[in-house]
Amino acid sequence: MSRSVLVTGGNRGIGLAIAAAFAEQGDKVALTYRSGEPPELKAAGEGSVLAVKCDITSAEDVERAFAEIEAAHGPVEILVANAGITRDTLVLRMSEQDFTDVLDTNLTGSFRVAKRAAKGMLRLKRGRLIFISSVVGLSGSPGQVNYAASKAGLVGMARSLAHELGSRSITANVVAPGFVDTAMTAELGEDRKKQILDAVPLRRYAQPEEIAGVVKFLASAEAAYITGAVVPVDGGLGMGH
Ligand code: NDP
Repeated sequence: MSRSVLVTGGNRGIGLAIAAAFAEQGDKVALTYRSGEPPELKAAGEGSVLAVKCDITSAEDVERAFAEIEAAHGPVEILVANAGITRDTLVLRMSEQDFTDVLDTNLTGSFRVAKRAAKGMLRLKRGRLIFISSVVGLSGSPGQVNYAASKAGLVGMARSLAHELGSRSITANVVAPGFVDTAMTAELGEDRKKQILDAVPLRRYAQPEEIAGVVKFLASAEAAYITGAVVPVDGGLGMGH
């Protein structure tokens, strides 16, 4: 059956791989993009792809995006809250703006879309909320006080949603990737990259498709009894934490 899926930040990186994975299996996929051109993505079978312009820091944008998606695909049954940013710097150099910008996108942005999606899911009496966190949200990381706080916040948020919405067959889970080969990690210096790879038992970055596969599983019928889970996809970096 073709399901209505929304992936935020679906125009590149991990979000694009996730959107492509759902489109390939014939789902009705909506993806958000902020600027530039939406990606060229085709869906298999009865599926379709809808690109919606949306900045998740704007409540109006989120509302407009949901109205557009619901008109085209019906209520969102699977939400993947993926959009995220970094503003890395050591704590004494980190401005309050650096902190609140990251929280507003990664945590409050995910709250905005999850709250709006939950409305439709409660009516449907089913749904999957999937949050893209990070290994860093669990282990912490120097220079990422803002980012780690936002990603740790997603765990508490997802687990609270799991409690609140479970009786309506709505699950809420977190995927915690390690280092993934995208524009976000391309910014890291060579020394830092080597440090990271030395700490990863599998000695390589993940490909975005490897995160997408786990997200697809959490949205599948086979994962109906998994809720409040934090699933690491980190090559062993966090050793299950
Ligand atoms: P990218 O930087 O490649 O992509 C980030 C995406 O988020 C883009 O689509 C971007 O849109 C979107 N985005 C950012 N801010 C907003 C906003 N305010 N409103 C709407 N969309 C926004 O990152 P990745 O693909 O690497 O990361 C995706 C997610 O995975 C993030 O949450 C990240 O924290 C997480 N993650 C990444 C890891 C990695 O190693 N790469 C590791 C662990 C977690 P636009 O193109 O318009 O900027």
